[in-house]
Amino acid sequence: MSRYTVSDALTVVQSRAALAAANPSAPGEHGFPLVSGMQPSSAHHFLDSAALAAYHAAKLDSVRYARDASANTIELERIVEQLHPGFRAFAFSSGMSAIASVLDAVRPGLQRLHLPNEVYRKTVALGQQLAATSPVEVVTYPTAAVAAQLSGQPEEGEVWFVEAPSNPHLRVVDLRGVDRGPTRTGVVVLDATLAGLGDLPPALLEIVDVIVYSCTKYIGGHNDVIGGLALVRDALRAPLWEARSRLGTIMPPHDAHLVVRSLRTFDARLDRQEEGARHVLRHLAQRADEGLVQSIHYPGEFANAHEADAVAFALGGPRGSLVSFVPNRSREELAERIGTLRTARMAPSFGSVDSLVEIPSYMSHAAASLDDLATMGLEPNLVRFSVGAENPALLAEDIDRLVC
Ligand SMILES: *Cc1c(COP(=O)(O)O)cnc(C)c1O
Repeated sequence: MSRYTVSDALTVVQSRAALAAANPSAPGEHGFPLVSGMQPSSAHHFLDSAALAAYHAAKLDSVRYARDASANTIELERIVEQLHPGFRAFAFSSGMSAIASVLDAVRPGLQRLHLPNEVYRKTVALGQQLAATSPVEVVTYPTAAVAAQLSGQPEEGEVWFVEAPSNPHLRVVDLRGVDRGPTRTGVVVLDATLAGLGDLPPALLEIVDVIVYSCTKYIGGHNDVIGGLALVRDALRAPLWEARSRLGTIMPPHDAHLVVRSLRTFDARLDRQEEGARHVLRHLAQRADEGLVQSIHYPGEFANAHEADAVAFALGGPRGSLVSFVPNRSREELAERIGTLRTARMAPSFGSVDSLVEIPSYMSHAAASLDDLATMGLEPNLVRFSVGAENPALLAEDIDRLVC
């Protein structure tokens, strides 16, 4: 079965019929613009009270005030919903504001938040803040143990946060065999930022209640927009709409317009970047054979059949273009060499058409001591390489500038 791609989702939402229904062409125009417009209006006016009443009857799908929704966020959300059957999408001003708003929406009745030990640093910070300022208990669990834990049924008032693949070791979280049972208690949140967008296997969608993505990474893909998405089932739809409206964490119209623009090249970018990542992986494997690289991490590339099945279950289609590896060099040596790269640039973030490289112990985890890093299982000399759309041969040369 071929993948249902982001291009397919765009084709549905931006189809002729959908355009004609939503968007009668303006006077004097006999067609539609090829590219949908950016609508920055902060408020919509109503021609009469009947129109306002119609708005109230369909509030969650309509536009009145741009802190609640805009034409551009709704367009983006409809496209993303095509890729996640059974879920309703909400666009946010960042990945973190999506996560914070989801936690706000589930906050009434929240007693325990379970976070994996390898999870985005600011998600950890949100958990710490919650633990310090509320009676919510925040518990850390080993990423590898999540399937066993969830099979014991989350309890009412419990939120389980899962990040797959994990960052920076790109571990696939194996959720096969998890059965939420008939009474679905608790809330399972999946941060799927590293999986790209969509095409998550139906059996995985069945397990989770909330999916979040940072649009700043693969989805935006050009390092020119910060944004986030959260997808929820019906039960959380109104609470999340209210949370976003209350907190003002919605994605601005201009950013939503940019993200929709980015979706038009999503499939092509991911194909190209994954091909580049495979080239870089082959090169790294050769350097590992020569003793220059100690370990290489990529979801599934060097997996046995069991791991390959787990990868397919967790990711479906794309595996992304992040590669991490531990060269046979100290982090001080790497810190010197990273300035000599010609194509990849030293920066946080990942997933864009620009290759970006970082040493997490100097970047995202700069505040951690060597002891902390050891406790976290993070090698001080681990390199995270986000493969962009450049010529992969040039990227292999950059790898050699680091490891040889
Ligand atoms: C980047 C990232 C976030 C936060 O997204 P922002 O858009 O930077 O706020 C959350 N989770 C993961 C896994 C990320 O990589």
